[in-house]
Amino acid sequence: MKIQILPALQDNYMYLIIDEATQEAAIVDPVDPETVATAVEQNNVKLTKVLTTHHHWDHAGGNAKLLKSFTNLSVYGGDDRIGAINHKITHNDTFNIGNLSVKCLATPCHTSGHICYYITGEEHPPTVFTGDTLFAGGCGKFFEGTADQMYKALIEILGALPEETEVYCGHEYTANNLKFGLHVEPENKAIQQKLSWSHTQRANKLPTVPSTIKDEKLTNPFMRVHEPTVMKHTQQNDPIKTMSCLRREKDNFKA
Ligand SMILES: [Zn+2]
Repeated sequence: MKIQILPALQDNYMYLIIDEATQEAAIVDPVDPETVATAVEQNNVKLTKVLTTHHHWDHAGGNAKLLKSFTNLSVYGGDDRIGAINHKITHNDTFNIGNLSVKCLATPCHTSGHICYYITGEEHPPTVFTGDTLFAGGCGKFFEGTADQMYKALIEILGALPEETEVYCGHEYTANNLKFGLHVEPENKAIQQKLSWSHTQRANKLPTVPSTIKDEKLTNPFMRVHEPTVMKHTQQNDPIKTMSCLRREKDNFKA
């Protein structure tokens, strides 16, 4: 498995996933079809699938145009509002990209039809494409869901993946997210270190993805709602209420 990170728009990421054994490829959230076409050509791969995380324009807005340049593309997603969708999937559905195995994880909250894609193959750690559900150091806004649902998504579903799983999220929001994380837990050394690393990466115009599930458990307040330090900050003693308070606070936080 090879993953190519393709920046798009202001701070979005598209991801070209290549099964090197078969040279078959899939693209995650191809909002910028021209960049995708160039990457497909440069890698000399056969693009067969589109993996859409959710219906928002900056993720699904390029699907229809991409379909005009590539025939027979299967467009996966969990929401009828997704542009050009022709393979509607639900929780735990599976399919392949060449020899790679894809498992669909329904994570409603940011949008009601949000899907994360967990992909495994030989000679590469597992990967998960988390769209606007899980970001490095943060999570998506609760536009169509509740703290209860985000708890299920982050703690019970994504948090149960192997710790070495690489996390590829939908936006470059890491530094701002970690600033909020430090506000919640000023003494958290892992956050301090990752924030400083993120600044260096961005100064060199490099992405801060992928993260890992292990890293998120150490640095992401929304995945740390069981930690006494995080609960204390929100003045709650329940992890779901803590999740709710954190989201409200983050929505108003100026980094
Ligand atoms: Zn979104």
